[in-house]
Amino acid sequence: MKLVIHRGTHEIGGTCIELQSHSSRILIDFGLPLVDENREPFDSNRIKNESKEVLIKTGVLHSIKGLDKDDQPGINAILLSHPHQDHYGLLSYINPTIPIYLSEGCKKLIEISYFFGQTSCDLKSTKAVKTWKKFKIGDFAIIPYLVDHSGFDALAFLIKCEGKRIFYTGDFRGHGRKSILYENLLKRPLKDIDYLILEGSMIGRDKGKYKTEQDIEKALTKQFQANNLFFIACSSQNIDRIVSIYKACKESDRTFVLDPYTAYILDHLKKISLNIPQYNWGKNIKIFFAPNSYTKKLADNKSLYKFKSAKITYDEIIETKNNLVIKDNYLTRNVLAKKKEIAGAKIIYSMWEGYLPDVKPFWEKYNIPIIKVHTSGHAYIEELQKFVKAIKPKNIIPNHTFYPENFPKIFQSNKITQIKDRQIINL
Ligand SMILES: [Zn+2]
Ligand SMILES: [Zn+2]
Repeated sequence: MKLVIHRGTHEIGGTCIELQSHSSRILIDFGLPLVDENREPFDSNRIKNESKEVLIKTGVLHSIKGLDKDDQPGINAILLSHPHQDHYGLLSYINPTIPIYLSEGCKKLIEISYFFGQTSCDLKSTKAVKTWKKFKIGDFAIIPYLVDHSGFDALAFLIKCEGKRIFYTGDFRGHGRKSILYENLLKRPLKDIDYLILEGSMIGRDKGKYKTEQDIEKALTKQFQANNLFFIACSSQNIDRIVSIYKACKESDRTFVLDPYTAYILDHLKKISLNIPQYNWGKNIKIFFAPNSYTKKLADNKSLYKFKSAKITYDEIIETKNNLVIKDNYLTRNVLAKKKEIAGAKIIYSMWEGYLPDVKPFWEKYNIPIIKVHTSGHAYIEELQKFVKAIKPKNIIPNHTFYPENFPKIFQSNKITQIKDRQIINL
């Protein structure tokens, strides 16, 4: 069997892994880069009007035989680990007849992102997989493992082929709301793993003040005791975080004010988990119909009406503001500022720091303190070490990391297979 990591051996983002057996080929993930050649944030607008040839030439898109729309299909299937763009963001360039295997939650979130124009990836041929249930693609037998990650319904894959066992972790952690999945992998570790393709996002990164998603819930509950209006900046697709905020609101008797976009996402995921907060759960959740393009899209396709029973108006927001936690968005914060209702408010910044410079000037202008309450979606070094110690893989292949050269020291192991992007390895 052959392995090629098209991108990811020396960077975080743009993940794409290929496995070739005697007669089958599969890809795992097909993501958009997060950084450019100078390790500056990758500008996804850059690819919008670019031809495929230029994208291949500049190294954004991979030239993989049998994958292209105009090519004879030569890839049996693509496995997607989770709905983050750095794992699926280039799928619009593939032949749409190639089947994509993914979790139900991953499928739903990519479809929603497509609906709102956040991705050009229009999933055509999908097969939703059941966690821990084996399926076959050509020579490959695959078992998807549900893992704890900030991306919803994220999977790792155990792949068996030609007598070898490979485990691809995807992005994962041990300190989220589904940490039990990580604990279970330590208690009942996978056996006889020949190759562990291991993510290492946190290598070279700071752990931060709050270690777990439970810490986040506690910190928010404590903050919300104050008699102020709170804004909270977080990703609508980070469901663990939405749950933490909702729980903190409940514990401190506050109402979480969502936008229709977030309410729509939660509504679409309700069948996958009964624990996801819903618009009709009562007094701790309200929906503000922020008049932006997303809300208009939902009004146009008649989905907005559904949330009417949970609607909160501007006047009601102003009347009850010190009992609210408003999910931050451009319009709401600006209108409240214009109405002079923002003085004394606090903003909790609960997402990746990279977006902070965009919003910082606004909050500083109004002297609103920015309180950072965030935890990583990725495993800490200690979590990775425990994981490797439990599994005892014969080889570790670094992936999704800027520091593959640190792996031997971190894992006290000489079994690290250091490879380069696009290098063909015989397994
Ligand atoms: Zn990733
Ligand atoms: Zn991810």
